[in-house]
Parts: sequence; C-alpha cells; structure tokens
Amino acid sequence: MDIKYFDNAATTKVKDEVFREMLPYLRLEYGNPSSVYSLGRTAKRAMEISRRRVASILNCDSSEIYFTSCGSESDNLALKGLAYMQKYKKTGKNHIITSKIEHPAILNSARTLEKQGFKVTYVPVDNKGFISLNSIENAITNETFLISIMFANNEIGTIQKIEEISSIAHKNNIIFHTDAVQAVGNVPIDVKKLGIDMLSLSGHKLYAPKGIGALYVKNGIEFERFLDGGSQEKGKRSGTENIAGVVALGKACEIAQKNLPQYMEKLKTFRDYFFSKIQEKFPDVVINGSLENRLPGNCNICFKNIESGELLLKLDEVGICASGRSACSSANSIPSHVLAAIGVPSDIAKGALRITFGDFNTIEDVDFLVRNLERIVKK
Ligand code: PLP
Repeated sequence: MDIKYFDNAATTKVKDEVFREMLPYLRLEYGNPSSVYSLGRTAKRAMEISRRRVASILNCDSSEIYFTSCGSESDNLALKGLAYMQKYKKTGKNHIITSKIEHPAILNSARTLEKQGFKVTYVPVDNKGFISLNSIENAITNETFLISIMFANNEIGTIQKIEEISSIAHKNNIIFHTDAVQAVGNVPIDVKKLGIDMLSLSGHKLYAPKGIGALYVKNGIEFERFLDGGSQEKGKRSGTENIAGVVALGKACEIAQKNLPQYMEKLKTFRDYFFSKIQEKFPDVVINGSLENRLPGNCNICFKNIESGELLLKLDEVGICASGRSACSSANSIPSHVLAAIGVPSDIAKGALRITFGDFNTIEDVDFLVRNLERIVKK
C-alpha cells in the first residue's frame, strides 16, 4: 500500500542528499573525531563544517553550537544547565518562567527542577495559543534567571512573538531560551535579530535522521553540563559524537536554508487548501490555533462526536499517517494539554486531528486525505 505521510511534526523522512552525505561517515570515514590520526581528523573536519552549516541557518557563530542527541536533550541541557549554574555560582536566583503549552521536554525538566527547589511559573495562553506579554512581565521576580518559551507549538503550530518576549527578558537581565524544534527549517530564524540567547533544535524534524540535535548558546552564557564524561563539545556534552548524524544535520540545515522561501510557500498552499476544503465539507469543524501566525505546514482540527484514536486507525487502513496530538503523547488517552490550555472543551479535544505537511507531499495527496476524511467521518 502506498503510504501518504501527513505527520511531519512527529518526524520526517531523511532526504536523499542528506543520506548520501552522511553515509561515508558510517563505514568509510568512521574515525573518532577526538583521535589524532588522519581518520579522526577527517571526522573532526566534517563535524566543524556541519557546525558552520547549523550556525548559518540561525545566523550565529559556529562556536555557539553544541551537538546533542535530540531536541529533548537540548531542552534539558538548556534548563538544567542554566539552573545548576545558578546553584553552583550561588547567584541566589532560582526562578524560571515558561508556558503551559511547552513540549514535555521543557515541562518535565521544569518539574524536575521544582522538585530540586527551583520555582517555576507556567504562564497561560489565549484561545489561539499566544502567550500574553503582560503575563510574562507580571511573573518576573528578582530571582528569575530564565524565560523559556517555545518558538512554535508542535500541536497547533502557533508562532510566538519571540522578539517581544526576548526584549522583556533582556530588559530584566534574564536569559531567553526558545525550544525551536518545530520551527527550524520551517520559518526564518535569526537569533541575533530576535534576541535569542539559547535555542534547541532537532535533526529529525528537518529531514535528517533521529538521534541528532543541537543547542545554540550565545557566547558568554555560562551553563553546567549534566552528563559527566569526556571533554567533547567543550566539556558541555560528553560522549563520542554521532558524526554521521552531525553531518546529516549540517546538510539538512544547508538545504533548508537555501530552499526556505519556496518550501514555506509550498507548505502554506497545502495547509490553506486543506483548511478551505475541510471547512467546505464539514461546516462545524473546529480549527485550533491561529490562522495568521502559524507554522506553514500545520493543521489542527477537531471533528465533533469523533474519537481521534478510531479515526487514525481508519485512516491508517488506507495508508494515511496522521496524529491526534504530539507523537510522544499519542499513546496517552488524556486530552492534549495544549488544547486544554487554549480552552477547547475535553469532549471536543478528543476528536483532534493534527495534519502536518512536508516536502514529499503533493496537492493530490491533500485531495486524497480530504476524500478519505469525508468518507470516514461522515460514516
Ligand atoms: N520540542 C518540541 C516542540 C517538539 O515538537 C519535540 C518533538 O516532537 C521535541 C522538543 C523533542 O525533540 P526530540 O524528538 O528530538 O527529542
């Protein structure tokens, strides 16, 4: 059966160019980048080229990029790395501000820190998923050292007012981190222009494989490591580097940067076409999130009187891959914390469907999806 993949926020297929670039580093150039001989030096060189490519898509310096194993690790390193630095340096600062709609990598890191004595404020969002700037300002105390707000939401695609939030942080001498796992490669990001101090990204959301991520940390910001071991990544992230993954991430960033305007336009066309068709076929469908400041490929809708679990299984029977909420929570029957935060009643939230388009989709795929939704939902 032909697979029609509409779950690009969960993960993406590795692109041919990315695969070709990483392949030699698995079997031919398999050296450890810490080794002094030429096989090791070749791996190290490849890693540094990749670091420059990742830095380029963010407009930062390559010395500000730390490779990790995934977006979750980058989020953990940002929050815990900064928190442990406050403790270690006895700064007396112990308060973090984040939002209610963050990914579990942030929410659960924050909860762990709360258990260790840190204080966390989880600011609310409005019915489109936007964080109110006032609520951030009101949450700031003399102890606040970090504001961590996601760039774009993984379920409803809402893009936050990053520049405004970072400027509030900086006016109060607070570091600003953003989880940009869903945004890198989907929207332009210039960390200098936007005033971002730390940023998490993940390879498998932009056509590189799973198992590679990165954390951008502006030069001058001190943070502690939480994985003890060797001195890789300037001692901040121990463990022999995943060179093939690093090379893949670099290539994926290079492609994404080059193709961004056309890519965004293509995804927006699919998204807007899907929304218009679905509203035409189902006048009472609920569209979750903002229609303006939204990731180009993200659609999130609720059908009334439908259980999304059942709907997803029916879609799977015809080869359609989609999700009800984020991939890491999809096995969980509790309604989405994101939909709850934007005020979607739980009986409607249980009918949520997330469609996220990607580079391999075509407009015919969208028609196929709409046709099948019509058939299944109406039945
Ligand atoms: N942050 C966001 C917003 C995400 O969507 C995800 C993954 O879906 C992550 C973090 C975690 O990334 P990874 O799967 O690379 O650990």
